[in-house]
Amino acid sequence: MSGQTKINNRYLLDVIEKTKEKNCMEPEFIQAMEEVLTSIEPVVAKREDAYKKSGLLERLVEPERIITFRVPWVDDKGEVHVNRGFRVQFNASIGPYKGGLRFHPTVNQSIMKFLAFEQIFKNALTGLPIGGGKGGSDFDPKGKSDNEIMNFCQSFMNELQKHIGQDVDVPAGDIGVGAREIGYLFGQYRKIRGVYEAGVLTGKGLEYGGSLARKEATGYGLIYFMREMLKDHKIDLNGKTAIISGSGNVAIYAAEKAMEYGIKVLAMSDSNGCVYDENGIDINTIKEIKEIQRGRIKEYLNSHENAKYFENGDTIPPLYRIKADIVLPCATQNDINLECAKVIVENGAIAVGEGANMPTTTDGINYFLEHNILFAPAKAANAGGVATSALEMVQNSMRFYWSYEEVNEKLDIIMSKIYARCKAAAYEYGYKDNYLAGANIAAFKKISRAMLAQGII
Ligand code: NDP
Repeated sequence: MSGQTKINNRYLLDVIEKTKEKNCMEPEFIQAMEEVLTSIEPVVAKREDAYKKSGLLERLVEPERIITFRVPWVDDKGEVHVNRGFRVQFNASIGPYKGGLRFHPTVNQSIMKFLAFEQIFKNALTGLPIGGGKGGSDFDPKGKSDNEIMNFCQSFMNELQKHIGQDVDVPAGDIGVGAREIGYLFGQYRKIRGVYEAGVLTGKGLEYGGSLARKEATGYGLIYFMREMLKDHKIDLNGKTAIISGSGNVAIYAAEKAMEYGIKVLAMSDSNGCVYDENGIDINTIKEIKEIQRGRIKEYLNSHENAKYFENGDTIPPLYRIKADIVLPCATQNDINLECAKVIVENGAIAVGEGANMPTTTDGINYFLEHNILFAPAKAANAGGVATSALEMVQNSMRFYWSYEEVNEKLDIIMSKIYARCKAAAYEYGYKDNYLAGANIAAFKKISRAMLAQGII
């Protein structure tokens, strides 16, 4: 399989070097930027003059706007805390900025920028009219009471509301931001603005403008993409085994859909460790622990005595030492490094599907491609969430809501088309089954056309 190769194009090399220099304190952003720019070389070579003349690549790697702000809030003991809020509005050439909000202590500008940059390409791949953005805060929701979460969300929205709107920028959830947080954020927006602008946030509750199947969409979409990719290689999902990192929104619904297709999910994890159940993970127990109790995955053992728990500690998370046909990283970025990728290949995996954003390091990806692992890249494989968010916006505009079956069917069609786009672009430019290059190229062609058409802005 053709992996990422060394590039020769001077213009591209120049932009990469200057962007690295300018953003030298932002390793995650550099990683995401370099991965995309490296794989679009054959497209750039064809239209170099037009791109150079309009500074297209230089504009592509510079966010249209970054907003950072203070988020003060009061805990249950009356103590004041101050967090930092972000919104990166990267590129709105094909639609309003769209991308989730992440609440996690590791959030910083580099992580926000890499996520927003990836989002531009992901959103273009969906075929829907949405640009790329991302936001969040270094706030840690773990261990906070409902009241503290509400206080934080309200303070966060006091500032964010100045910069968003249904035709401007439409945030959604991500790590640490689920239905509860979106509810508090939406309530505060409505109170401050005095309008019922349902399309300003997605991932809303069903009672106030949410879409059926949005909660399930990222995880389900990942499995639809895997089904298409494996079908193309004459491999059936039924009877395969899988391991899934994470046990949040994406991981849970990827597991649920995988099981529907006859895959046995052997293990899932959280940031402390992983549970292994040789009979197949009981997803209802995981849902109960994570969605309702907000507990730790270790608690799975309370009701499943035969399962095993492995605590993190080693440089390779114990989850990735478990043998499985399909590996689905659905937790966070850079979860699978080269060392970890080697273990996965040695264990005989046939496919890796990225549910999380950038969960594999660049050398990890190259190792997978060199060893003929079928690799489903995040910006294509996890696009089902944002695609369904765009469907939520459509329904909000129509003031009419589709059934669960209708949304799920649209999601399935969108994911199948995304796979087809990645494959077609990869083959057209000689990358064969390198769907990462295919995804980058297909998305870049659309975004670059829109940017060129709109002039130097
Ligand atoms: P959740 O907050 O629902 O779940 C995150 C999961 O990942 C939890 O199990 C969490 O464990 C684990 N995790 C977080 N950080 C780490 C870490 N440093 N090491 C190990 N495990 C970690 O988030 P989502 O499921 O929504 O998001 C997961 C990934 O999917 C992210 O990369 C996100 O950007 C991406 N994504 C999400 C979409 C969505 O629709 N929600 C759409 C597209 C991509 P713990 O509970 O211990 O923190």
